Amino acid sequence: MFVAQAPPGNVFMSAFSIGLRSLFAVVLVAGSSVVAAAQDLPTVVIVGAGLAGLNSAMLLEDQGFDVTVLEARDRIGGRLFTLDQVAGKPEAGGNMIGASYARVIDRSRQLGLQLVPSAQLAGGPAAMEYHVGGEFISPAAWAGSPLNPYPESLKRVPPGSAMMAVLRDNPLKTPADWRSANAAQFDTPIGQKLDALGFDERAKQLAGHANSYGNSLDDTSLLAMYRIMAVYTMARGLPGGSVAVAGGNQRLPEAMAASLAGQVLTGKWVTHISRDDKRVTLETADGETYEADYALITVPLPALRNIVISPALPDAQREAIETLDYAKTLQAFFTVEGEYWGQHTPSVWTDTAAERLFATADADGKVSNITLWTTGNEALAFGALEGATQQQALYQAVYDVFPAAKGKVTLREVRDWSNDKLAGGSWLRWQPGQIGAYADVLAAPAGRLFFAGEHTAIVNTGMEGAMESGERAVGELMGLHQSSTKQSLAGEDLFVYCQGCHSLTVGEPHKLGPNLSGFYGRAIASREGYAYSKALAGTDGSWDRESLQNWLNDPQKMAPGNRMIYANPFDQEQLEILLDYLETAGR
Ligand SMILES: Cc1cc2nc3c(=O)[nH]c(=O)nc-3n(C[C@H](O)[C@H](O)[C@H](O)COP(=O)(O)OP(=O)(O)OC[C@H]3O[C@@H](n4cnc5c(N)ncnc54)[C@H](O)[C@@H]3O)c2cc1C
Repeated sequence: MFVAQAPPGNVFMSAFSIGLRSLFAVVLVAGSSVVAAAQDLPTVVIVGAGLAGLNSAMLLEDQGFDVTVLEARDRIGGRLFTLDQVAGKPEAGGNMIGASYARVIDRSRQLGLQLVPSAQLAGGPAAMEYHVGGEFISPAAWAGSPLNPYPESLKRVPPGSAMMAVLRDNPLKTPADWRSANAAQFDTPIGQKLDALGFDERAKQLAGHANSYGNSLDDTSLLAMYRIMAVYTMARGLPGGSVAVAGGNQRLPEAMAASLAGQVLTGKWVTHISRDDKRVTLETADGETYEADYALITVPLPALRNIVISPALPDAQREAIETLDYAKTLQAFFTVEGEYWGQHTPSVWTDTAAERLFATADADGKVSNITLWTTGNEALAFGALEGATQQQALYQAVYDVFPAAKGKVTLREVRDWSNDKLAGGSWLRWQPGQIGAYADVLAAPAGRLFFAGEHTAIVNTGMEGAMESGERAVGELMGLHQSSTKQSLAGEDLFVYCQGCHSLTVGEPHKLGPNLSGFYGRAIASREGYAYSKALAGTDGSWDRESLQNWLNDPQKMAPGNRMIYANPFDQEQLEILLDYLETAGR
């Protein structure tokens, strides 16, 4: 497979795609204006070449759309960013692909990428001491340490895990339930829950330190945390641990881009988008103009705020885009030239400004890299510094924990996601009260504009959320296209929502969900070679129209505790069309 390196303004295309594209016209008009038009195919411009944009592009091409992707950076991947120039190739963006990431895993396999266990801490996953109040404390000694401020029932919980540990009473049955009306009562500050559990000020301070989901316990939503916990809980029942793409996670979006027939143009910073009843027009900072039938926008909200959209989006949606904030993250990547940890572990969770030092080893088991990973206000404080002053502060943060690191570690790279105008942080963080106010309006289509991106995911989070969001947006776009061209919606098109987890092709391996060829009419949970959840394995009956309808409407109602990670995206009419299709295609 051909994957180009990306100088600014480069075009990513596979060798195959160049031949195919030449059948169609990319028309240059009036000076620098470009019309992304192909002969008879409906055209879509996608903004953003991260996972959401590229998954959307692949799905749309499968459905016969002519796709062009505009990416502001000079590289593909967005918040997947492998530091190829640093020894050990640390990940500066998304690093762990969870066992429940059906779409990410499926795309990787489809594109011939190898998945390997994700980077482990040097010495194994348990090899991380705590550094609290200036003292090193081993995990075994933590429960009895006088520096452990947690309430008696939580003394065994690591200092950095208290916020997750209080979520064991999770009322969400599935990750999709966070948007339900019943869940709204939990959209309160997580700090209130800690108060109720008897956390004193010091315990709260420690629990809220290195918080990846808020700047303080008061601005972290309990409901948002329950949602994250529900995703973890779902994944826990699945075989296999977290993985990464061999050679770096960024290889996945690069391979996705290279697989497209359409162009992926880097160095194209979209500044204006306008639409009327027939077309969408996008302008980029370099003065070019792109027209298409539809646009699908996948940029993070802080970047979306800077795109002028006309006519303006509805007030509530605009308010959501203006208001919602991203988790702050700044990482510093060091290489290790000598032993600095003495009798302690090379990785550490610390209540100092460094927050977390993750040490990884090279192939020979030698500690080779440290990632200093700060969040919230610590990330903002480091981010406010510049150049040599910032570097000095980051070195000092390491020395404050490991004085012996002087002269033994070298700072190679600083990645400040918070001050990156094309990201604005690491991921959307819902603050108390915001889910009820904004979750439903955030990604609403506006005429010929559609929205995707991790921040719009309904069920999953992170990379898988980004992939999932592309499916939803493509489904919406196809719905509009079909109704405006008076075509009827085909069941095959609706299977877009299912194909990340299921194949219908005879002989293809199971994905995260079982292969569905020949399933219709068979006993439920009877496919050979697939490890069903106990809940589904214990469900009587066979797959017929009624059982399938019940299942697709609400799998948790039909088989409580099953592991299908899903929220029904279909209205009744669509469901009937999909059922018709499965009745035939699934025999
Ligand atoms: C430090 C860090 C660690 C993470 N760890 C994990 C993890 O372990 N597991 C996990 O699942 N997830 C993790 N994530 C999250 C995961 O990486 C993201 O959720 C996912 O990559 C987001 O994909 P996306 O397509 O929605 O957005 P992005 O990848 O941000 O893609 C959007 C693209 O739009 C481009 N863009 C923005 N504005 C414009 C514009 N005006 N014009 C043109 N292009 C524009 C951006 O440059 C970007 O390429 C992590 C993220 C970070 C930052």
